[in-house]
Amino acid sequence: MKRLEGMNVLITGGSTGIGRATAIRFAEEGANVAINYHTSEEEAEITLSEAQKTCSLIREKGCQEMLVQGDVANEEDVMRIFREVLGAWKKLDVLVNNAGIQTASPTHEADVGTYDRVLAVNLRGAFLCSREAVRHFLDRGSGGIILNNTSVHETVPKPYYAAYAASKAGIGALGKTLALEYADKGIRVNTVAPGAIATPINREWLEDPERRAEVEGHIPIGRAGRAEEIAAVFAFLASDDAAYITGQTIYVDGGLTLCSDFRTPWSSGI
Ligand code: NAD
Repeated sequence: MKRLEGMNVLITGGSTGIGRATAIRFAEEGANVAINYHTSEEEAEITLSEAQKTCSLIREKGCQEMLVQGDVANEEDVMRIFREVLGAWKKLDVLVNNAGIQTASPTHEADVGTYDRVLAVNLRGAFLCSREAVRHFLDRGSGGIILNNTSVHETVPKPYYAAYAASKAGIGALGKTLALEYADKGIRVNTVAPGAIATPINREWLEDPERRAEVEGHIPIGRAGRAEEIAAVFAFLASDDAAYITGQTIYVDGGLTLCSDFRTPWSSGI
């Protein structure tokens, strides 16, 4: 049986990487998927064609798809995204807050504009989309599901990525707060925290064999994760199999958060 048959789902940043894999997985499970994509000038063509490819894969699975352009950091864009999706489909069942960006620099050299942009896309974007989804779920009166994509850096510090780590910790807190605030309204809110996943955001180390080996050497399971392995957990959390789960973060990280340096018992005297 298809677990997500007939559900309407909006995925932010759904044209590439984890968002794309999630869109395809949800369609495999019977959902209709609205793919939000954002294009800055330099990425416009690639993003649009990725979004269109994802749409045709969804259609092949017998589901409906929509493309909705918009910057999740921008309140007007988010309101329009929801108007477009609800105008076409009348109801939304699941929101996946997936869009995210990261930038690296020593924190004492970081500029405030970059810091603000990372927080705006990752955290304000998740807030704005969640708020619109909750408004719709309350109007409709039959609950709904919000899923967030954080990172192991929701809890693990990441030097040089202060804005990213702060944003992901913030989304974790946002998700738990909304889960508690709306549990009695049938709204479930859960979070997936991926480890190192082979997607465009990690292009730099994925394309450098030495750096990739170094990254993978820190992962107990011994390899980077696949976007499909994150999508599978999103699909579970959107399904009735997870009907009694809310306010949780599930780490999908090949054991990264087990602190692999402890594989050798350097502190235990044996
Ligand atoms: P990705 O770069 O392919 O995906 C990010 C997506 O967000 C892109 O489609 C991008 O166009 C979109 N986006 C960026 N700014 C946007 C905006 N303002 N409005 C709407 N969309 C916007 O990389 P990914 O790995 O698939 O990342 C997806 C999510 O997973 C991100 O939130 C990222 O932080 C998180 N994550 C990734 C990893 C990993 O190792 N790949 C690990 C932990 C968490």
